[in-house]
Amino acid sequence: SEQTKLEWNKAPCRFCGTGCSVIVGTRDGKVVATHGDAKSEVNRGLNCIKGYFLSKIMYGKDRLQVPMLRMTNGQYDKHGEFTPVSWDTAFDTMAEKWKKTIKEKGPTAVGMFGSGQWTVWEGYAASKLMKAGFGSNNIDPNARHCMASAVGGFMRTFGIDEPMGCYDDMEAADAFVLWGSNMAEMHPILWTRVTDRRLSAPHVKVAVLSTFEHRSFDLADLPIVFTPQTDLAMLNFIANYIIQNDKVNWDFVNKHVNFRKGETDIGYGLRASHPLQQKAKNVKTAGDSTPIDFEAFKAFVADYDVVSVSKLSGVPEHKLIELAELYADPDRKVTSFWTMGFNQHTRGVWCNNLIYNIHLLVGKISTPGNSPFSLTGQPSACGTAREVGTFSHRLPADLVVNNPEHRKIAETIWRIPDGIIPPKPGYHAVEQNRRLKDGDLNVYWVQVNNNMQAGPNINEEGLPGYRNPENFIVVSDAYPTVTTQAADLILPTAMWVEKEGAYGNAERRTQFWHQMVSAPGESHSDLWQLVEFSKRFTTDEVWPEAVLAQNPQYKGKTLFEVLYQNGNVDKFPLEQVDPKYLNDEAAHFGFYLQKGLFEEYATFGRGHGHDLADFDTYHQVHGLRWPVVNGQETKWRFREGSDPYVKVGSGFEFYGKPDGKAVIFALPYEPAAESPDEEYDIWLSTGRVLEHWHSGSMTQRVPELYRAFPDAVCFMHPDDAKKRGLRRGDEVKVISRRGEIKTRVETRGRNKPPIGLVFVPWFDASQLINKVTLDATDPLSKQTDFKKCAVKVVKA
Ligand code: SF4
Repeated sequence: SEQTKLEWNKAPCRFCGTGCSVIVGTRDGKVVATHGDAKSEVNRGLNCIKGYFLSKIMYGKDRLQVPMLRMTNGQYDKHGEFTPVSWDTAFDTMAEKWKKTIKEKGPTAVGMFGSGQWTVWEGYAASKLMKAGFGSNNIDPNARHCMASAVGGFMRTFGIDEPMGCYDDMEAADAFVLWGSNMAEMHPILWTRVTDRRLSAPHVKVAVLSTFEHRSFDLADLPIVFTPQTDLAMLNFIANYIIQNDKVNWDFVNKHVNFRKGETDIGYGLRASHPLQQKAKNVKTAGDSTPIDFEAFKAFVADYDVVSVSKLSGVPEHKLIELAELYADPDRKVTSFWTMGFNQHTRGVWCNNLIYNIHLLVGKISTPGNSPFSLTGQPSACGTAREVGTFSHRLPADLVVNNPEHRKIAETIWRIPDGIIPPKPGYHAVEQNRRLKDGDLNVYWVQVNNNMQAGPNINEEGLPGYRNPENFIVVSDAYPTVTTQAADLILPTAMWVEKEGAYGNAERRTQFWHQMVSAPGESHSDLWQLVEFSKRFTTDEVWPEAVLAQNPQYKGKTLFEVLYQNGNVDKFPLEQVDPKYLNDEAAHFGFYLQKGLFEEYATFGRGHGHDLADFDTYHQVHGLRWPVVNGQETKWRFREGSDPYVKVGSGFEFYGKPDGKAVIFALPYEPAAESPDEEYDIWLSTGRVLEHWHSGSMTQRVPELYRAFPDAVCFMHPDDAKKRGLRRGDEVKVISRRGEIKTRVETRGRNKPPIGLVFVPWFDASQLINKVTLDATDPLSKQTDFKKCAVKVVKA
C-alpha cells in the first residue's frame, strides 16, 4: 500500500565534519535504513560505522518527548523533581526569568550556548535572537572547543576564515602530514581516501605526529611521537631547515607574503587568581603587532636547530630532518592535516599560524595536493558556528561585533535600529561557565550540546554554575544527558531528519536535507523553540529606551515580528515548500521560515568571498563548496583560475588581507600551562573513539555501537602500569588537582601511549574525565587545551 512504500532521500550524516552524504530510507513515519550516497563526491557511497547505524540514533527508549520543569508542589523549585509541563508553561516560565534578569541586571546576564550541530538556520536564528533581540553577545558554540584556534589562525594569516583547499587534495598529494589528528578514527572516510592514495601510488609518504601512538600510525611511513607542547618548536625547526637549506620559494614569498612579529604578555587564559595564570605573567610572548623582514624571521627561527629541538621534543634528529624534507622537497606536493591536537592547545592559534608559515615559505598552498588543511569535528562547525558567526565576538561572514561598520552591516540586513548589537564581545564558552558560577550570568539556554560532559574542569567551573541558586538553566536535547540533569528546565528536541536542515562541512561544502519524519511526542526543533520563544517579548521589554525613542515604529512589536516576520525572513510563502516535504516549522509559522532565514543570511556573504548559492539549488545538488559564483563552486581559493575573486595576472591573491599578502609570523615555543611534577606525575590527554560521537548521547543508544566500545578506559604504557603495581583491567583512579574519576587500565589495544602519558576518551557519561581536565585556554582563540594536564593514576 501507499503507506508502506519505502522512500529514499539524501541527507548529510548527523555526526562528523567530514560531511558524508547518506541516503535515508523512511517508511510509515520512521527512518528504517541508511546507506552511503554513491553520488557524493565526499564519501562515494561509503560510511563509517557511525554513519552505518544512523537509522537507529533517533529511537533510543528514553527519548525526551515533553518539556520538564523542576517543581515542588506545582511550583518551580531549583531542587524539585523534573515534572512534565506544557510548552506554554515552559516558555512562560523562561520568559518571566529572562525579563526579570534583563530588567534587573541588563542583557549581559542573559546567555546561550549552542554548537556546530545546529543547522545553518538554527544557528542564524539563535544568533539573531541573542544579538539583535536581547542585545546580548553572550552566545557561543561548543565549536569554541573544537576549532576556534583554527579560526584565529586563518584570520591572522589570511584575513578570511576556512581552508583554501578541498578534499580533492587527497588524490593529488605526494605526502600527507598529520599533526595531532587521528584521522583513522575521527575522520575515517577521509582516511580511506588517504589510504587509497598511499597504497596506489608507492612514492607517496605519510607522516603521523602525535603525543601517543594511535590507529593512524598503521599507515605511517614516518611515525613521530613527541613530548606534549613541543609541536611549536618542531614547526619552527621546519621553517629554519627550509631557510638553511635554501629551499624558500622566493618567487612566491616575494610576491605574496609579509613577515610580522610582536610582543604581548597574555598568559594561559585561566582565571586571573589561578596560580598557573600568576606564573604565566612572566611569560613574554610574540604577537602580531610589528612588521619584520625576512632576515629578522630567519634570525628568529635560527634558534630552532635540529639538536635542541630533538632534545626538547624527544624526536630523533633523523626523523625531524626527514619530516622537514617532505616540506622542503620542491618536487613533492604536501597536504598537512590537523584537528584537535593543534586546536585544543594553549597556543592553538600559533600552531595554525606556524603550519601556514611552512606552506607559505615553500609556496605549497592553494594548488591541488598542496594544502594546509584544518579538519573540523562537528557536522556544521564550519557551516553554522563559523560562517553564521555564532561566536560571542562574531557576526555572519567573518564580521565582528567590535567593528562599528560590521555592526552597521548586520543591523541594516537585520532591519533593526542602529545601536542594538553591543560592541563588546560576549562571554566565550569557558568564561560563560565562570560567570554562571560567579552569578554574573543568570539565565542560560543550552541547545544541541552536552557541556557538563564536554566542557573543561566541570567539577570546579562547570556544574557549580548550573546549580547556582541564582541561575535558571534551560537545556534543549533529544535525550537525557548529564547536562539536562543539571538543568532547571528541559525542552525536548527534534533531531536530524525530523526537521529540514543544512550543514557546512570541513571543505566549505554546504549540504541540505528535507524533513522526512515527524519528531516524537511534543518534541520540536531548536529552530521552532527559538522562534516561538521570540513571541514572548516586546521590544519595550528588551531594547534600550533611547533606541526606541528614536525609532518609534518598533515600539510594542514582538521580537518575532521584528526578527522573523519582518518582510525579509517571511517573504517566501508556504506554497514554495515542496508539498511532499512540508516541514513542521513552516507549517506552524505560516511561511517558509528556513528559506527566509537562509536567504537573509546569504546576503552577508554574497559579493564578499563567502558566496552561497540560492536556497533551492542546494536541495537539488549533493553539496557545493563556497564561494559559489555564477553557479560554479570553488575548489581552491586564492589561486588565479580557480578562485573567481583572484585578479587575472596575480597568480595568487590572499584577498582577506588589504594588500593581498598572507602573513608569516615569528612565534616562539612556550611550555604547557601545567606539566607533570612529583605528585601529579603523568600527562593526561583526552579525545574521541571511532564508535562514539562526542559525548555518546546518540551513539551510546545504538546497541551495536555501545557494545563495540561500552566503557571508557585509561590507555597506559605497560611499563607505567607496572611501575604503579597495576595490571590490565585493574580499576584505577585518575586524579588531578581538580577532580578524579574511576576507570580501568588498558595496556593494549588501539592507543599506545609512550611512558609518561595516559589517554582517556571522554564519550562515557559514567566516567566524566572532564572533572579532571584543566580549563587553560588559548588566550587568543579562547579554546581550551584538553590534550595536556598533569594527573596521577592509582589503584582504586
Ligand atoms: Fe562520514 Fe563522519 Fe558520518 Fe562517519 S561520522 S559517516 S566519517 S560524516
